[in-house]
Formats: sequence, structure tokens, C-alpha cells
Amino acid sequence: MHDLNPHENQPAGSGAPEAAHSIVAGKEIQGTGRTLDISNPATGGIAGTLCEAGADVVADAVRAARQAFDRTDWPRWSVPRRQALLLAVRDKIVEHADELARLECLALGVPLRELKSRHMMRAAENFRFFAEFIGQARGDLYDQTPGYRSIVTREPVGVAALIAPWNAPVALASMKLAAALAFGNTCVLKPSEQTPFALHLFVRLLHEAGVPDGVVNLVNGRGDVTGAALVAQDGVDLISFTGGTGTGRLIMAEAGRRLVPCTMELGGKSANIVFASADRDRALDAALASIYSNNGQQCLAGSRIFVDRAIADDFISDFVDRARNIRIGDPNDAETELGPLASAAHRDRVLRFAHTAPQDGVEILTGGGVPAGLPDEISGGYYIDPIAALAPGNANVVCQQEIFGPFATFQIFDSYDEVVTAANATEFGLVSYVWSDHLPTVERAVRDLRSGVVWVNTTMTRELRAPFGGFKSSGVGREGGEACERFYTEPKTVTVPSAPIEPRRMGVRP
Ligand code: NDP
Repeated sequence: MHDLNPHENQPAGSGAPEAAHSIVAGKEIQGTGRTLDISNPATGGIAGTLCEAGADVVADAVRAARQAFDRTDWPRWSVPRRQALLLAVRDKIVEHADELARLECLALGVPLRELKSRHMMRAAENFRFFAEFIGQARGDLYDQTPGYRSIVTREPVGVAALIAPWNAPVALASMKLAAALAFGNTCVLKPSEQTPFALHLFVRLLHEAGVPDGVVNLVNGRGDVTGAALVAQDGVDLISFTGGTGTGRLIMAEAGRRLVPCTMELGGKSANIVFASADRDRALDAALASIYSNNGQQCLAGSRIFVDRAIADDFISDFVDRARNIRIGDPNDAETELGPLASAAHRDRVLRFAHTAPQDGVEILTGGGVPAGLPDEISGGYYIDPIAALAPGNANVVCQQEIFGPFATFQIFDSYDEVVTAANATEFGLVSYVWSDHLPTVERAVRDLRSGVVWVNTTMTRELRAPFGGFKSSGVGREGGEACERFYTEPKTVTVPSAPIEPRRMGVRP
């Protein structure tokens, strides 16, 4: 392992080569593992490289986080000092939003406009939110035991392993980072190997904003190498994971072995229910946005669209017309609505669902091919025509498996009971969408749907004070203001008598 520090004399975001290293104790570190090529999904070419952190680099990163937690005053920084730091990070994100979005786009392929306006602003907001949140902290006092007062304070837990997926790297990792830092923890961040560039810059910006060395460390590499080594480290005190349900199971088993608390933000196959009483035009716009934004690659996608038979024909045919009109192309182009999928393997997987679905009675209404007429510069990219399909029933593979792409599956329903039963008949329970202007129907659905979030007459929107997370196989634990406070802090009960006590006098003979 040797110290690279290639950006030593350059401000962050000044056009450094796209090579993602690890960052340990504030220093850029060349991994001891393989060098991996990172593809550019927009062109199919190579966007840059990643130097993989092997188990030794991961151990160094955890050691650095451990030292910063155990041997520096970081966990005990005052609230105003911590707030100032979080706000300085927020300013850095806003200042470098263009460059962060460019790097994210380079490896992910989500339209640049969407990355800049939604993902980077969300990351900035995460830091602002937690700066504000810790300013409102309070403790508990109990005095029911006569002669005693017990106060409960909250202390940081220690070293957090933060593991993020590829579909919204900065937006999702920034929530974990902001929360871990706000409550005084140190951490080791492991991004997806597919999308390391923007988070690499992000961690450098954290240091520029004043995060002390060792408080945030970055390890880059494959999940089964770098990620597995991180989860297995004895120095890790808690794990926050966002990713697939299968990976979540593996990580939680390892965490259970060591009794390390974790939160799991996992997959989804969310129902979007459009009742006949819905504001139809808004519901249509929202149905398209809920499945096709972020290139269809989002855990909270409204991928199962249930439409009341009374409005189904027109609704579905308008949806299909609009899906055919979506502007597919270079994610750097301001006009683009749907960019490429994140990798060739993922594109092929999504297309396979479209090709095999008809064998199960599914009708592909539109999409499922590779768009014709793309300009030469991007013809090697991983583009597909957005898919809409009509499924004969909820048991179908395309209604049960998380496809994680621009693949909308319609089902038509005749009654409230039928649709709620079908909506709940899934291993997942992340979010649900309900469209209706009939209040009793909304109230019933909100009560009956088995998901961690129910959005009524809206597309996805995050209220950071409220818990976010899933029922069933969509997750364990929640993210959000108080939920993060509970996860990233340990309560400590301190009991003090209000007058000197008379302890039992053992060992004194009369
Ligand atoms: P994965 O589960 O494949 O990977 C998630 C992260 O875990 C990546 O950094 C990955 O590294 C890493 N990883 C993989 N294997 C291991 C391992 N054995 N030990 C430790 N770390 C490991 O998910 P994807 O990246 O494919 O993300 C898509 C999934 O994430 C979807 O299921 C989606 O629904 C879910 N998701 C959930 C959200 C929520 O809030 N509920 C939000 C966004 C996405 P690498 O990529 O390098 O292999």
C-alpha cells in the first residue's frame, strides 16, 4: 500500500483523472487489489478505473476510524461546532454540484439534469437537515423512583460501516454520512464498484469542509471482496446497508454473528393503485414518473400499476403513448428523459424479462428493444426502450421480481379487496402509491397496505423527519431524523440520588 495523494495541490473538482482510490485517514491510497475498469453506460466505453481495496486496506480504514473515535475529541465535539461543519459540507456540495453530477452521470447514466437538481440537492439537504436536527436534541429525565433522578443521554456508537448501492450513490450515501457524522460517529464508506467517482470526490469535499482525518474513510472495490472484508472487521460497531435483499441477508447474518446492529434498506416491488376516483391526468403523469425516472432504477419505483377497470383502457393506452414518446439518449443532453441502464449485464437482465414474459401470458404493450437511430457516439451505450406490460395476474414473475429497470407492469382490478390483496401479495413492502380523491377509499388503503411508506396522490417525496424504510423483505430499521438518532447513538442512563443514600452495610457484624 502506498500513499498516492494525486490531488494534493488541486482543489476538488478541478478535472482530476477519473481514477477512484480509497481514502484512509485523509490520504489517497492505492489499493493492493486489482485495478478494475469502470464503464461509461452512455457510450459503452471505459470511464476510468478503480483501484480495489483489499482486506489490508479495509483493515487500515477501520483502524483509522477506530482511532478517530477512540483517541480524538471528535465524538465530543459541541453541537454548534458540529452544526457548523455539517453546514460547511452542505455549502461544498452546492458549490461542486456540477462536478459531482458530471462524475455521477459518467458511471451511472442517469440524466445529468436529474442528478444535479434532485440527487445533489438532496445530498446538500441531508447535511442541512441533520445540522438542524441535532440543534433540537433533548434528553429524558425519570424521577418516579423516590429519592432518585435518572437522566438519559445519547452517545455516538462508534465506527459505522456504510454500504451504498449504484443507483443513486451520492443521494443515498450522503444520508448515511450526514447522520453518522451528526451524531458523532466515525465511518468507513463502501460505494458500489460500478459508481465510485462522485463519492470519491464527495469524500474529498468532506475533508475540504473540515471533517478531521480518519473520521470518514472510503474503501473502493467489489462487494464480495472489499464489502465482505469491511463487514467482517471486528472494529466495526454498526452497519448501515442499502442494496439488494439477497446481499442484505448475507450482511445481516455476518452482523448477527458479531452482534452488530444494522439497518437494511432493501428492494421493492411497489404497488401504484389508481382508483376510478383518482385525478386521472395527475395519476397518469405520476405513474410514468414513478417508474421511469432515474432510468427506472430505484427501490421505490411504482413498478406494479393497478388500474380500476372503469378507467383502465384509456389510462393504459395513454400511458403507452407517453412511454413511446419518452426522449431516450445521452444522459448529458438536457433534453434526455431516459438514459442508459447502468451496465451491459443489467440491461441484458431487464431485456430478458421482456423477452420471456409473453411465455407466461404477459402482453408487452411497448418497449423491450434497443432504440433505433441513436447517434454513433452513443450507439454502444446500454439503452433500452421503456417497457410497459399487461400481466394476467399478480403471481406472474414480472409482478414479483424486482426488475430494477424501466419496466411497468399493469394489472386491472374490479374491487377494493381484490386490489389491496394483490398489492400486499409480494415479499416486499417498501412503499405504495394510492391515487384517489375519495377520502374513505384513501383512508382504508392507507390502513390496509403493508408497506413502510404510503404516498397518497403524489409521486415519491421524502420527509426527512419521518422514518423511511420497508416492511417484510424490503428492510429492517428506518432512516430519518429520529430513526437515525436511535441507530447512530447509544442511550446511556445515569442515576443519581437526590440525597446521600444508606447502602446495605454488608460484612459488618453487630
Ligand atoms: P447490491 O446488494 O448488489 O449492492 C449494494 C452494495 O453492497 C454495493 O456497494 C455492493 O458492492 C455491496 N455488496 C455486495 N455484496 C456484498 C457483500 N457480500 N458484503 C458487503 N457488501 C456487498 O445492490 P445494488 O448495488 O445492485 O443496488 C440495487 C438494489 O438496492 C436494489 O435491490 C434496490 O431496490 C436496492 N435499493 C434499496 C433502497 C432503499 O432505500 N430501500 C434504495 C436504493 C436501492 P458492489 O456493487 O461493488 O458489488
